[in-house]
Amino acid sequence: MLGFISQHRKVIILSTKPRIVVVGAGYAGMMTTKRLTQQLQPQEADIVLVNKHNYHYQTTWLHEVAAGTIDPNRARIMISDVIDTKRVQMVYDTVTELQPQNERVLLENGELSYDYLVVSLGFETATFGIPGIAENAWKIENIESSKAIYHHIESQFIKYASGETEDDTALNILIGGSGFTGIEFLAEVVEKVPELCSKYDIHQSKVRIINVEAAPSILPGFDEELIEYAEKNLSDRGVEFRIGTKIQECTPDSFIVGDDNEEIKAGTVVWTGGVQANPVVGHSGFELTKGKVNARDDLRAPNYDNVFMIGDTSWVWDHENDKPFPVNAQSAIQEADTCAANLQALLQGKETNNFVFDNKGTVASLGKGDAIGTILDDYKLFGKKARLMKNVIDNRYLFLVGGPKLILKKGKVRFF
Ligand code: FAD
Ligand code: NAD
Repeated sequence: MLGFISQHRKVIILSTKPRIVVVGAGYAGMMTTKRLTQQLQPQEADIVLVNKHNYHYQTTWLHEVAAGTIDPNRARIMISDVIDTKRVQMVYDTVTELQPQNERVLLENGELSYDYLVVSLGFETATFGIPGIAENAWKIENIESSKAIYHHIESQFIKYASGETEDDTALNILIGGSGFTGIEFLAEVVEKVPELCSKYDIHQSKVRIINVEAAPSILPGFDEELIEYAEKNLSDRGVEFRIGTKIQECTPDSFIVGDDNEEIKAGTVVWTGGVQANPVVGHSGFELTKGKVNARDDLRAPNYDNVFMIGDTSWVWDHENDKPFPVNAQSAIQEADTCAANLQALLQGKETNNFVFDNKGTVASLGKGDAIGTILDDYKLFGKKARLMKNVIDNRYLFLVGGPKLILKKGKVRFF
């Protein structure tokens, strides 16, 4: 088939090979591309990877960028450092629309045609229609939004220290939602605040860190003993929890919560209330259920035999337990393996295989020296052991995507 790329209507590439276009270079897109380069012979297909930026980032470290506990560049990996750009054509552009009926991807600066499409555009933060969240709350979504959160937090300290504001609530950091993102972010904030207080000569008692969660406990649905550990750990370090308290509205400097519309004021208001598929997916006409596309068992999108929908864009049904498989970095990486194998099968006229998630456990960090988690069918881990396991998980991904060199460059080897 003849391929065709037009960027600024300048570049036209003609090829007789089938073209696979992967949109989004997060965990799912990077690993699919990596696997395709390992599994397909160059003559079997052209591979194109489209991403907004020339870098890939560790989404699982964004809470650290947002709290200012790691340098944002540590979480960034130049795509050309880990993907063979002689084998994969890189297009650094923003996808504006997918047109599966015309087999086209529209970009800000051109368009692409494809024979096979992998949609791995990731997530956006869900607002659930809560008034003011979209406009007023800070969100941990990507490197830029996470950097902006830290800059805002520090700017509040600067304003207070310089006397520009005398309002103590300016220093408050208010976090909506205590899922894994909220809890991991809280723990980083707790570690950063003493450093900021010391830098700006502000007494720590002036700063309140408040978490508001609608469910009856933090980390709803997680192991009770680990929840207790995390809650005690963070409360002991000064976090104020407002559990069983629903956020009704968000203003630029507060959440309005509960049935009595109490206002909790803060200079920094961060929302971590949940995620849904990248908005491009819904705008392109794919049907969404609870914010994501219901992918078929072999990860293809409903109605389109040449479109795969993976990572945070989709749900994949776990028939054995009659619920969706978890949607996280671990599953995105595993889906990439199935997706690449199924693309190879389609190119070779073979049957595709269904995705099956192999749950290796869940570990959440509680700062740089602590964590909680379950591994190997619910074996519980706390403290430094759990943190070590989190580092092993992060380093394993770096190894998969960039080999030992990337672990040495970006990996987390020291943690206390
Ligand atoms: P993403 O990683 O979000 O990647 C999407 C890619 O698409 C990005 O490169 C983005 O730049 C690109 N993109 C987006 N829009 C466009 C566009 N319009 N055009 C072109 N490119 C675009 N999961 C775990 O399993 N373990 C953890 O420890 C963990 N920690 C987390 C911590 C935080 C703070 C957060 C927010 C999430 C965490 N998760 C964790 C969840 C996990 O990060 C996601 O499930 C995972 O990132 C999904 O991978 P993805 O490839 O689908 O999307
Ligand atoms: P989430 O959906 O897991 O948690 C959102 C939290 O916000 C929930 O506890 C929910 O009850 C609460 N909430 C929603 N509406 C509310 C309201 N109106 N008022 C108060 N609270 C409200 O979302 P997340 O934490 O962003 O996680 C997204 C995904 O990323 C999940 O799949 C998660 O497992 C994954 N993740 C994993 C890790 C890890 O494994 N270490 C870390 C971060 C995220």
